[in-house]
This record gives sequence, C-alpha cells and structure tokens, in this order.
Amino acid sequence: MAQAFLQSALALRNKHAVVTGGSRGIGAAIARQFISYGASVTIFSRGVSSELRLGLSAEEQLRLSHLKVDVSDANGVTQAMDSAKKRAAIDILVNNAGRAASAPFLKTDDSLWRSMMDVNLEGTVHCTRAVLPGMLDSGWGRIVNVSSTAGLTGYAYVSAYCAAKHAVIGLTRALALEVATKGVTVNAVCPSYTETEMLRAAVENIVEKTGRTPDQARAKLAEKNPQGRLVQPEQVANAVLWLCLPGSEAITGQAISVSGGEVM
Ligand code: NAP
Repeated sequence: MAQAFLQSALALRNKHAVVTGGSRGIGAAIARQFISYGASVTIFSRGVSSELRLGLSAEEQLRLSHLKVDVSDANGVTQAMDSAKKRAAIDILVNNAGRAASAPFLKTDDSLWRSMMDVNLEGTVHCTRAVLPGMLDSGWGRIVNVSSTAGLTGYAYVSAYCAAKHAVIGLTRALALEVATKGVTVNAVCPSYTETEMLRAAVENIVEKTGRTPDQARAKLAEKNPQGRLVQPEQVANAVLWLCLPGSEAITGQAISVSGGEVM
C-alpha cells in the first residue's frame, strides 16, 4: 500500500509540464497537483500572482517556473516555449488560459468575439503547435485542454465564449485521432461554475445587472449544478492529473465534464 502511494507520488518525476493560465484559479491548482506528483512545471500568464506559490515547500518552488506571455500572441508563445524547452523537453501541455465575457449576441461586436476566440481557441492552437513536434519525436505526450460545460452545451449571453469552447473540443477530438498511434493523448476537461476569480467576476456581473446580493448570485450559479454547489479548482485539477498519470493512455479524444452532473 505504502509502495503504491510512493509510486503514484513520484509518477510525474522527470516530466516537464507547461500550464497556461497557471498563475491562479484552476491553472494554479493543476500546477500544484503536478508539482506534488514530482513534475517540473512552467506556467504561462500575462501577469504575476503569489497565489500559486502559497503552500509550496522550498524544494517544490525550485520545480516551478513562470513565463510572462499572452497566449493569443503567436510569436510570444513561440519565444516562451523555446525558453521553456531550454529548461527541459515539454511532456505535458495544459491549455488552461481563458477568459469569459458575457453579452447578448446582438451586442457581441467583432472585438468581443475576436477576443474570446483569441485567448480560448487561438491560444490553445499556438501552444499545441509549439509542443506537438517534440512529443511526437519522443513518442510520449499529454495534452489536456481546459474547455467548459460551455463547450458541450449552450448558455445564453455567452455565444462567443461557447463557440470558442466548443471549437476547443472539436480540435481535441480531431487531433486525438491524428496522433492516436504516436503515444500522445489529447483530452479536454469541461468544468461548470468553479470557485475562482472568473466566477467572482460572473457574480459581480449578476449583482450589477439583477440587484441580487453576492450570496444570492452565488446561490443562483450553484443551483445549476445538480450537486447544489460550486466546483472547486482542485476537483478540476484532479481530472487533469488523472489524464496524465500512468494508466490513462487508453483515454484520448474525450471531453470530461466536471460539473456535478450538470451536463451528461
Ligand atoms: P481565472 O481565475 O480568471 O484564471 C485565468 C488564468 O488565465 C490566469 O492565470 C490568467 O492570468 C490567465 N490568462 C488569461 N488570459 C490570458 C492570456 N491571454 N494569456 C496568458 N494567460 C492568460 O480563471 P479560471 O476560472 O481559473 O479559468 C481557467 C480556465 O477554466 C479557463 O479556460 C476558463 O474558461 C475555464 N473554466 C472556468 C470556469 C469557472 O467557472 N471558473 C468554468 C468553466 C471553464 P493573467 O490574467 O495574468 O494573464
């Protein structure tokens, strides 16, 4: 039993993972999980946040590196990936960086539409393009795209976000087939409302538009989840980790809902 635990605790030792949007929220939880399983992690984000380093030991912090990059900028991603590869070859990519903006469709102008596609879809494409050749050469790789239940079903007032997250799942399925015999798996995880800064922004929006209190707004969002609660970032991170651990190699091209059963 103890030996099985040790094996799993070291299961990602010698693996290097890039986690985009790893500075806070779901990405920070994923980075922490990888580090606790022995991996080295490079996170990409535009700004810096101390959230990620909280609770990490000095040794764990040595296995964490941060690069400042906007994933929607193709050249910036190429440079950041080159710099990450100098640390070590990239074995795992988690395309997690994302933003959600809401507006009725007729008020979704080109700029809002473009910005949702740029970060949620193009960012995923840029990062995947940069790491896939190395994974194919080494015959092993794990790509996990953090989509959303908005990639599996429709929600009113977020048409651009929904379209981008649906597209991420289409990309996941097509690429999974393309590389199925090459030792590389490509999957998506699809959280529903998860307790992060993104959710706090959604709560503020509801408060402003409906006059509800923040608690009422949060309760309204939690109501959509059949378990009656918001998803926690660590629960999404657990699904991502599982897709990268030994034993998950038969799982590819999947879009796994982490939503308390909201989408099935
Ligand atoms: P969050 O707390 O707002 O964190 C977003 C992360 O992405 C931050 O590290 C942010 O850092 C980074 N980021 C944003 N735009 C970026 C860009 N252009 N380039 C590089 N990094 C960028 O959000 P979260 O809730 O953890 O969301 C993570 C993922 O889960 C997103 O893809 C989101 O769509 C998805 N998701 C979230 C929920 C939810 O309810 N929270 C539900 C379903 C799906 P900087 O701002 O410093 O760049």
